[in-house]
Amino acid sequence: MSYGTASRLAALRERIRALEHRYGRVEGSVRLLAVSKTKSAAMVREAFESGQRDFGENQLQDALGKLDALSDLPLNWHFIGHVQSNKTREIAARFRCVQSVDRARIAERLSDQRPPDLPPLDVCIQVNVSAESSKSGIAPDDVPALARRILDLPMLRLRGLMAIPRPEKGLEAQRLPFRRMRALMDALAAEGIALDTLSIGMSDDLEAAVAEGATMVRIGTAIFGPRDRAR
Ligand SMILES: *Cc1c(COP(=O)(O)O)cnc(C)c1O
Repeated sequence: MSYGTASRLAALRERIRALEHRYGRVEGSVRLLAVSKTKSAAMVREAFESGQRDFGENQLQDALGKLDALSDLPLNWHFIGHVQSNKTREIAARFRCVQSVDRARIAERLSDQRPPDLPPLDVCIQVNVSAESSKSGIAPDDVPALARRILDLPMLRLRGLMAIPRPEKGLEAQRLPFRRMRALMDALAAEGIALDTLSIGMSDDLEAAVAEGATMVRIGTAIFGPRDRAR
């Protein structure tokens, strides 16, 4: 049985390539993370068969069965959901990257609990770029101090910044928070903290993200179709 992910992935890759071209980005500089939350292991397998390697999950319990069912495949799993401190041990052991680190305590636990036989865990700092009190993420002003803390932790490798801005309609409105993220990356670079990952952009604001310098876009709906639950 086919879920249609192959043709949706092909169309999406084509679209990303066209956007790279339109906004003067180097071809291939925007990496695609397939967000498979709530979707089945069989759908992930189908996406793998059409060349996808990076997958994102936002709830540990939902993810673990899939990670087990797909352990025969060389997949890169990214954790992109809120990290609860009682889940850090398993997250540190099972994921390649955690994009949603937003406090020192969580970073310290992930470093302490990363199994010593694995390479350091890649992490991104999640930034609350639209200042929504209900959402995860650290305030932009607090990013440099957290970045410096993470750089001191032996089993973490700081790769970049991630954000989920408040949904906006229209390209210009969508570009603004992403531009702030880009400025934050530049400010860190000026302090000597050079990062290679700017994880911004989802199905509905992909173009704005590529325009503002995304190096990774996190796409669920446009690959796997709508989800029945609102997450
Ligand atoms: C669900 C989710 C996405 C993907 O959203 P779509 O709109 O389905 O593309 C991206 N990033 C995070 C953190 C998510 O939780």
